[in-house]
Amino acid sequence: MEFHHFAYPHKLSFREADRESRCLGCLDVINGPAYISEAGFGMHKVCAEMPPQIQKDAFHPHPLKFKLLDAIVCDACSRLSVSYICYRCMYCDFNIDFRCAKAIINDENEIEKRDDEDLQRTRTLHFSHPHQLTRCKVSPILTEFEEDFIEEIWTINKLKLNKLKCVACKWELQDTQAFMCLPCRFIIHESCMNDMPMQVQSSLFHPHHILHPRPFFNAGEVRCYACRSKVNGFSFYCNKCDVDLHVSCAKYRTRATKHSCHPHNLLQLGKSIIKRISCRACGRKNCNDSFFSCRKCDFNVHPKCIPLLSSFEHKRHLHPLMLVSPFAEDDSGDYYCDMCETERNPEIHVYYRAECNYIVLDKWQYKQKQME
Ligand SMILES: [Zn+2]
Ligand SMILES: [Zn+2]
Ligand SMILES: [Zn+2]
Ligand SMILES: [Zn+2]
Ligand SMILES: [Zn+2]
Ligand SMILES: [Zn+2]
Ligand SMILES: [Zn+2]
Ligand SMILES: [Zn+2]
Repeated sequence: MEFHHFAYPHKLSFREADRESRCLGCLDVINGPAYISEAGFGMHKVCAEMPPQIQKDAFHPHPLKFKLLDAIVCDACSRLSVSYICYRCMYCDFNIDFRCAKAIINDENEIEKRDDEDLQRTRTLHFSHPHQLTRCKVSPILTEFEEDFIEEIWTINKLKLNKLKCVACKWELQDTQAFMCLPCRFIIHESCMNDMPMQVQSSLFHPHHILHPRPFFNAGEVRCYACRSKVNGFSFYCNKCDVDLHVSCAKYRTRATKHSCHPHNLLQLGKSIIKRISCRACGRKNCNDSFFSCRKCDFNVHPKCIPLLSSFEHKRHLHPLMLVSPFAEDDSGDYYCDMCETERNPEIHVYYRAECNYIVLDKWQYKQKQME
């Protein structure tokens, strides 16, 4: 049984696959007989039988026509994904991914199962970007394997959606709710957008001026003053000094300390800010240790590499407290100093007593010294 599919240039025949392969339509693994090409690409029978055009008035009033390899935010399930085949309205901005199209054609209830209740399609404007943002979820369906697979069949258009990072916090987006401007590849976690201040006052990296939001696009390369890595599309900005910072870097919780090894104040920085920086004393980089850092002079040292007490005793605790690397005692996300109850950044070294699970900020070592 030979077959020509509208989305694939070569003949397909109905048979068992010779090697593991994935369906060009739904991207799931193919088991058993399916439509397979000579090159080994294939489609499930139900997927191959999907029409090139869908008209279901109850679902959408206009005809939806197939489109090859595109990144869309699906209007049925709100997921952002790259598909080999998706369907797009001929008259308005309405798109559905292949899986939802299949559900609409074959089983009208199925679509509800994929429809996240709290993920209604919303468009909104936010001061971080000049265009409308669409609420979406970055599809967990598209694994790296699937992305390679898509590139294998269609190498012209490299849409590295999985590499997209939130403009505010610099983290990759995995199955979290986000807002996106697809043409600009601008994407931001919903939580990062909601938590964003209108301005940042007294950021430790740039303490003397207020930082204001600066949306930009096509601005060439913009580097963050704090972490030195690229800023994509949005920063907090000082227009007096022409300084840009990532949102998360501008808000980074840290403290400044004075130490005899350097004439300026040193900031305590963790690995989300000091990636790929090497220690002035021991030369190591890519470790999980925190740093003491002077951004002006690019002076960076590990706490363990400068004369810093490896342990000290405090009158409010029975045992000596030991200097340890960045430390989170659990994954609660809330960390405090047991001496003064102030919140602490888990990326920064502390003094610690394991058997008492007692953790204190390093300032207690200096404070005690000053009092003596
Ligand atoms: Zn399929
Ligand atoms: Zn329409
Ligand atoms: Zn984020
Ligand atoms: Zn845009
Ligand atoms: Zn930064
Ligand atoms: Zn400034
Ligand atoms: Zn070092
Ligand atoms: Zn300095």
